Formats: sequence, structure tokens, C-alpha cells
Amino acid sequence: MLYKRSSELFIEASKVIPGGVNSPVRAFKGVGGTPIFVKEAKGAYLYDEDGNRLIDYINSWGPMILGHAYEPVVNAVIERAKKGTSFGMPTELETQIAALAISMVPNIDKIRFVNSGTEACMSAIRLARGYTKRDKIVKFSGCYHGHSDSFLIAAGSGLSTFGVPNSPGVTEGTAKDTLLANYNDLDNVKALFEANKNEIAAIIIEPVAGNMGCIPPATGFLEGLRSICSENGALLIFDEVMTGFRLAKGGTQELYGIQADIVCFGKVIGGGLPVGAFAAKEEIMNYLAPLGPVYQAGTLSGNPLAMAAGLEMLKALNADAGIFKSLEEKTAYLEKGIHRVLSETAIPYTINRVGSMISVHFDANPVYDFNTAKNGDNETFKKFFHGLLNRGVYIAPSAYETWFITDALSYADLDFTIEAIAAVAKEL
Ligand code: PLP
Repeated sequence: MLYKRSSELFIEASKVIPGGVNSPVRAFKGVGGTPIFVKEAKGAYLYDEDGNRLIDYINSWGPMILGHAYEPVVNAVIERAKKGTSFGMPTELETQIAALAISMVPNIDKIRFVNSGTEACMSAIRLARGYTKRDKIVKFSGCYHGHSDSFLIAAGSGLSTFGVPNSPGVTEGTAKDTLLANYNDLDNVKALFEANKNEIAAIIIEPVAGNMGCIPPATGFLEGLRSICSENGALLIFDEVMTGFRLAKGGTQELYGIQADIVCFGKVIGGGLPVGAFAAKEEIMNYLAPLGPVYQAGTLSGNPLAMAAGLEMLKALNADAGIFKSLEEKTAYLEKGIHRVLSETAIPYTINRVGSMISVHFDANPVYDFNTAKNGDNETFKKFFHGLLNRGVYIAPSAYETWFITDALSYADLDFTIEAIAAVAKEL
């Protein structure tokens, strides 16, 4: 495949945008080469500026769970845009999407909308600190909760790609309030609580991690965190920015039967527009301004275009009783196919999957935390990525990202992908 026009556009972009991109992983630093510039997308496919068609396994990093340019969402946005694009005043739409989200997700009474997953997690932490009157938080190495200061400590995602554990600009004062634990290691969390008695406001976790590849919680891990929080007066925050409205209607709280105290959303809840949200029981949410003392605000929060898109997306997911099963079956089919072709080679690999989140790690050992994720062979991953790209299959340009399956993928697309992987595997 040719990427001449994309290369030209990247040169132009690099003159006026740092690194030519507005979010670092897009720059292909983790895999080398030039980012692909998208012209348009429909269903399971991206069409780039050189006229190539790519099967998309990123799907805008999660939101396009029903495929690109999903008509009910597109139409809702067009119709709303004709009536004004932002008011900074309440609209009925906000109540409609809030009520629907609350009806789908267990254990939440109220929800507040923001503009990104970062904002959702950042605000959830402030709320937890305000509510508990404590400063420290526990986060897990390799988990990414957006780019706000408290979270840029051993974060996954783009930070892993670049091997930068902490970002300059995050002050020591901020970093000292973020305690780091290993994913799937309850003893580690218990030790932190022992050493910081009555100081920890919350544990924040990706209940299925997706920013060091896909890493499922070990049996009993989330239950253990729930108990530790309850015993110590700390809040359990589930960052469901990736998993919310993807792994089940009610997210991982439903999937694993665990109650979180605060839940963060992003990605799917906005149907592809910039939306995040955080939600909890009334007692906690009423701590937010204007009812309570914890301040949080946004000029474009609850934006009518974004709310219209999110509402149509949630309605579609809520109305389709078989959607999460269908996504699971497609992803399981892909997983089986990848196993089939890779097991015929000598390449060491591990596949992790939960529902429609899946990742391939080039290491034979189990991948259950950030350290084991880092054991993967990045050189093999780079060749794998480019081999697939040359065959029209677009996976995330980093070994530390999960793939997001869209229901727009047909079984023919999945077979095409598995055959492409078989061909690439011969070149590794
Ligand atoms: N939390 C998780 C689990 C994420 O994966 C991400 C982004 O990928 C975020 C938070 C931040 O969301 P956003 O990029 O919308 O700010």
C-alpha cells in the first residue's frame, strides 16, 4: 500500500502542530513510520488520504462500538446542529442521557457530564478527596486515567510507548499523593493502606486494564479492592472510560458483580464526540457544586451535539439485547483464529481478552501486570503492526494498547484479518 499523501500531510502538520499530532500515540513513534491521515470512515473501515481501505481495530480508541458514521448518531448530530451548537445553559437532552445512563449502569444515582475521560477521572479524584477529606490516592502501574497531573505516574498507553514513566511538569508535591501499586497484587495494596493509615481517599483502577494491552483482573482482585476500601473508609473508583458500555450494558460492575463508589466514563458514552462523565450514589454526587463544596465546571459540558450523539449511542446499545454477546462472539472468533495461525509458528505470544477488548503480546508468559506487559518483544510487534498495515488491517500503533472490536466487523473481515496475520507471521 502507498502512503504518499499521508507522508506529505504529516510533513505539513509537523510544521504547525508539535509532532504533527494532537495526541502522541498517533505519531507512530512506537512502531516507526508515518501516521496515516484519514479522509473518512464508514462501518468497520477507514479510508485514508491515499485511497487505501483499512479494517479498523482501534475505532477511535473505543467509541465507535457500532462502527464509523453510525447513522442514528450522525443524523442526531446533524439535526441538533441546525438548532444551535452550544448554549452554556441546561437542555432536556442532558436529563435524557443522564436518566438513560443511570438506568443502564448499576449502583449510580446521579451522573455529571464533562468533555473527556481525563476530565472525568480528574474530577472523580477531586470528589473522592473532598468527600473523604483525605489527599492520597492509589493507582496501578500501567493504568492510564488521562493526562491530568495526578495520573502521570507510571501510566500506560502513550507513556509506555515512549518509556517515560513520569512527565516533566508534574510537581513532586502532586506525585507524592499518588501511591503506586502493581495490578493484580492485593498484598501490595494492603501494604500501602497499612503504611498510609487514614490518608488514602481512593483507589482508582481500570477494572479491566486496556492501556498496557488488555489485562483482566485476576479472580478475587476487584473483590479484594472493594473490601480494602470499605474497611479503610476509602472510595473505590472504577475508571470505565474504556470498559463502560462496552463489556456489558452496566460495564464491569455488572460483569463482575462488584460495586464501585464512583464510576468514570468516556469514549462510547459520547458516540464519537468529546464526552466524559462520572457517576456515583446521590450522597457522594451531592458533594459537587452547586450542591456541595467540591468545584467542577465546564463551558462546553453537556454540549448539545455531544449529548445528542451519546444519547443515540446509548439508546442503540440499550435496545439491542444481543449486542454485547455479538461483540463477544466476534472477538472470541478473532482470538481463536489468531491462536490457530500463531500456534503454527515458533513465535512466542500470549493473547489476552475480555469481551470485545483483546491484545496480542509477543511473549510466551502470562501477562497480568505492567512488568509482564513490558516483557513483550517490541521489535516483533513493530513488524507485526506494519505487516498488517500493508495488508489493510489497522491495529493500534503501540504494543501497549488494546484492540477495540466494533460490531460493524463482519465475519469475512475477521477471516481476512486472520489470514493477514497468518501471512505476517511468516515474515516475523
Ligand atoms: N481512562 C482510560 C481508561 C482511558 O483509556 C483513557 C483514554 O484512553 C482516559 C481515561 C482518558 O480519556 P480521554 O483521552 O478522553 O481524556
